[in-house]
Amino acid sequence: MENKKEMRTWLDDFKLDHPLVIAGPCSAETEEQVLQIANELKNSDVSVFRAGIWKPRTRPGGFEGVGAIGLKWLQKAKAETGLLMATEVANANHVQLAIEHDIDVLWIGARTAVNPFAIQEIADALEGTDKIVLLKNPVNPDLSLWIGGLERLCNANIKKLGVIHRGFSTYEKTKYRNNPEWQIAIDMQNRFPDLPLICDPSHITGKRDMIQEVSQQALDLNFDGLIIETHNDPDNAWSDAAQQVTPDTLKRMFVDLRVRKETDEETEYNNKLLQLRAQIDTYDDKIIEVIGNRMRIADEIGQLKKSKNVAILQNKRWNEILGKMILTGEEKGLSEEFILKLYKAIHQESINHQERIVNK
Ligand code: PEP
Ligand code: MN
Repeated sequence: MENKKEMRTWLDDFKLDHPLVIAGPCSAETEEQVLQIANELKNSDVSVFRAGIWKPRTRPGGFEGVGAIGLKWLQKAKAETGLLMATEVANANHVQLAIEHDIDVLWIGARTAVNPFAIQEIADALEGTDKIVLLKNPVNPDLSLWIGGLERLCNANIKKLGVIHRGFSTYEKTKYRNNPEWQIAIDMQNRFPDLPLICDPSHITGKRDMIQEVSQQALDLNFDGLIIETHNDPDNAWSDAAQQVTPDTLKRMFVDLRVRKETDEETEYNNKLLQLRAQIDTYDDKIIEVIGNRMRIADEIGQLKKSKNVAILQNKRWNEILGKMILTGEEKGLSEEFILKLYKAIHQESINHQERIVNK
């Protein structure tokens, strides 16, 4: 990786010319494992070593972390490699132990991020700290809950804050372990442009062969860093085996990742961009005009249905439209997921229009 947009706030202290990289195993397992991985990550683009000591598991019976003993291994790894150390904290006791063991970066996990009591407890324990504190998004796609957590940490006068986008739970199975819902991360970035935003492609994808692609998407969206689970023997990892990569794979990924600059001064580039954006603007105008026209027809249908006292929602007709549009979309290179979202929104607006007419 090379060349990164201006670094901001505490990220400046790293003096990097590429996005911040945090890497290390999902969980610390043994002292040897921690030291081996940390040493393999030394002298790479990695600045911070991660390892979970206390593991929040969805169901009981899984490996729940080695506990406080692991903090000593992290101290040793820091002394051997010079990497900063990061671990997850979920309560005031974890915070206290992590600080006592010189952990540099404390992250708050997605399951903790949903709970204002827990965040408040952690914020109180961290009051005024100069540690770097990273808040993962809550498991459910709720921007205000994520922002609320951030506000609790800000109110506790924690200065070196950042957020980690690790995707969101969904009931339906998708190709991701946690659906990225990029728009939520982008909204967060727009609300807090100076807040470092880090992507966790490991927990988004759940699969090691998708990590490169999602990392690239994050860089294309101007994320400030990546946190990637890295293990010396991924297949035999004690947690999250399917999504971990070896240090060598990680280093190979860095060679291929392309970092986008925020802008470029060059005139030809800027002229071309202006020209393309003008084209986009005309298409956007057309889209709204066409949808407006479609709604006027929907209004006429509403009138007609009203005259015969017929129900607005006609499921059969709606399914026919969807099926047809998915096929047409496919021909134009548009994904089924997109067509479904688009047509759900159009359909809802049509129903709203017709309801207004029928109930007038
Ligand atoms: C982790 O980083 O290992 C972890 C438990 O992540 P999350 O809180 O995003 O599930
Ligand atoms: Mn994990």
